[in-house]
Amino acid sequence: MTTSILVTGAAGFIGSHLARALAVQGCRVVGCDRLAADDPYLTLRKARVERLLAPVGVPCLTIDLSHAAVVDRLFRERCFDVVVHLAARAGVRDSVRFPLDYVGPNLVAFAHVLEACRREAVGHLLYASSSSVYGDPSGSSPAAPGEAGQPVSFYAATKRCNEIMAESYTRMHDLRITGLRFFTVYGPWGRPDMACYQFAQAIADNQPIKLYGHGDVRRDFTYVDDVVNAVVRLSTGVGAETRGHQVLDVGHHQPVTVARFVDLLERAVGRPAHRRLVPLPVGDVTATCADPRALIERIGAWEATPLERGLDHFARWFVAWQRRTSCETA
Ligand code: NAD
Repeated sequence: MTTSILVTGAAGFIGSHLARALAVQGCRVVGCDRLAADDPYLTLRKARVERLLAPVGVPCLTIDLSHAAVVDRLFRERCFDVVVHLAARAGVRDSVRFPLDYVGPNLVAFAHVLEACRREAVGHLLYASSSSVYGDPSGSSPAAPGEAGQPVSFYAATKRCNEIMAESYTRMHDLRITGLRFFTVYGPWGRPDMACYQFAQAIADNQPIKLYGHGDVRRDFTYVDDVVNAVVRLSTGVGAETRGHQVLDVGHHQPVTVARFVDLLERAVGRPAHRRLVPLPVGDVTATCADPRALIERIGAWEATPLERGLDHFARWFVAWQRRTSCETA
């Protein structure tokens, strides 16, 4: 029987790639996203819908999940076997200045999705958490793999809250829930607020790249296709009979310094980068490093796309996207 899957945040970076891949695998996929008129990245979100989702027949419903009645109706009218909840206000830095903007999308919307999954007896809920829940490993008590540290941003706090909320739901009800701690995902159609895009933009504009933490910050960069590969296998795989809550790191345990990342990006883009070393801002952590053992136990061998290859794919897309947006604004 065809699996019916809801992907929330389907006009987003990871959601658009994932919804497309699930449809290509033969799942019946429905996407939804807020797609609000005041969203500064609306053009990019609409382009993802048009270029990634529409050609494979995935609809993207315009829905704000922070409204309970709308979520109720969506779940009541369609029967989902699996829900992959990726919708959120993403990004650490804005949460330092605008914490309240994160409450509706990250906490209220998640509560609505949890409750709808319980009411409609959804077989498996997977949701996006984040590597940021580990806090800063240079802190007084760094978190062990699988545990959580002290959040150093409000965004991280909301993601940790999601994990605790999910845990309570599996203790109160007979549900199957999987939390996905993503580690700095990059690739084509990536987010303009993330380092990869911002660095490429600075190189294109001949502007200096700000290297936070003086370039020594380490990130476990994960290519978007690797994330999609893992989530497709988790959401369509066997083991649906196992109930309970499990949180998985979705990253390869291959951290590199951001300075090294810029060296490789510079090569992929084919233009020189100008570097400016600046201190680490509040909310950022000095290092992230995934422990993928629990994930591999669930899905089997999980190949890592080498950073050089992933950045080549990103750079090719970035140049084409720049050309398209500059033609449209000319
Ligand atoms: P994204 O911003 O591209 O996608 C999130 C989508 O959710 C957006 O399209 C947005 O419009 C939508 N959304 C926000 N609030 C909504 C609401 N109330 N109702 C419906 N839709 C809403 O982010 P992404 O990079 O694709 O990340 C996907 C998920 O993974 C997020 O939960 C994010 O916090 C998490 N995550 C991402 C990374 C990463 O490196 N990209 C790392 C860790 C965690």
